[in-house]
Amino acid sequence: MRLIRVEHHPASTVLAFGEEAIERVVSFDREGRPFYAYDRQTAWKRGLDGRLHLRRRDPSGRRIREALSRSDALAVYGMILEAAGQARDALGARAAEILRWTPEALWDDEGRRYRAAYRWPVSILPPDAYLDVVLQATYGCTWNKCTFCAFYQDRPFEKRDPDAFRAHVEAVRSLLGRGLRLRRGVFFADGNALALGEAIFPLLDIAAAAFPGRPVAAFLDLWSGLKKTSNWWARLAGRGLRRVAIGVETGDPALLRFLNKPGDPRELPALVTALKAAGLELRLIFLVGAGGAPFREAHFRHSLDLLAGLSLGPEDLVYLSPMVPEPGTPYAAAAPEPVSDLEAELRRWARALRRLGLRASRYDIREFVY
Ligand code: SF4
Repeated sequence: MRLIRVEHHPASTVLAFGEEAIERVVSFDREGRPFYAYDRQTAWKRGLDGRLHLRRRDPSGRRIREALSRSDALAVYGMILEAAGQARDALGARAAEILRWTPEALWDDEGRRYRAAYRWPVSILPPDAYLDVVLQATYGCTWNKCTFCAFYQDRPFEKRDPDAFRAHVEAVRSLLGRGLRLRRGVFFADGNALALGEAIFPLLDIAAAAFPGRPVAAFLDLWSGLKKTSNWWARLAGRGLRRVAIGVETGDPALLRFLNKPGDPRELPALVTALKAAGLELRLIFLVGAGGAPFREAHFRHSLDLLAGLSLGPEDLVYLSPMVPEPGTPYAAAAPEPVSDLEAELRRWARALRRLGLRASRYDIREFVY
């Protein structure tokens, strides 16, 4: 395969190879680490922990997702670095930043640096935060008992004090290095960092000093959000908070109880009003297929009624997340009869949201890579 094109962007370097048409593309951050590659039908994304995530379609068109083993990842890294070696002359000064890496350094050394920066792995983000700088203002989730959720079962909820948080921020900044140029915002993790009270302000200040000008986003849950006033959200917005992602899951109170998630969806409008009054952008996450066939119609109907009554703007977004039972969770053990065609159900929801004039986007947790 011959080199077709080299792109020198301020935040990345892109190489394209092929014969007649482009068949292979590799993108590197400004530390020279590959972060995305594809070769014909297969794509790889690299996580900051050094792991490689493969995406391809099988002959029947089914999507395959796989986290590669170390040996398979080293082979892919070897292929990528060999391709970069072919492009050495065209890379010019950037050859040095890319070709200093070895497959082992990309996996082993970077994996160690990631684990030093993040005591607990970053378990999940909303899709529009995959390219944020994730800072763990808290660990875990204050509730941690929703039957479908396995994101934080490995850790207790814990607040970070400013000194520990400052050290964490420095470790993250060092891990990212010049790769920071790819990152657009800051995400305050883990599951519900916005449950913090006044203790969040020094953490926001530390984040703003380290990553100036980057808007802050975070998850929020309904029941802790409702404890705060619109003035509270305005104060946070004044200190950099721009976007909030709420795991609404459903507008059906009975289904929410079945999922063992606290709160009542009928309280969502009050929270949305308070957040919008503070100028925040919203991401509302609905779990399509939750509760399976027995809840299908009530889930759809109540959720649409709920959404129709909210004052959302063009800057807000509804995420439709396909229900994928996580093995080992109480939800998987309860095994409600699944919705027969989940893809068709997602399309039905998307059509209904468009009719309401709302922006909708798919949120597949299996696609998450940080
Ligand atoms: S879904 Fe959200 S609130 Fe429920 S356990 Fe998971 S992180 Fe916590």
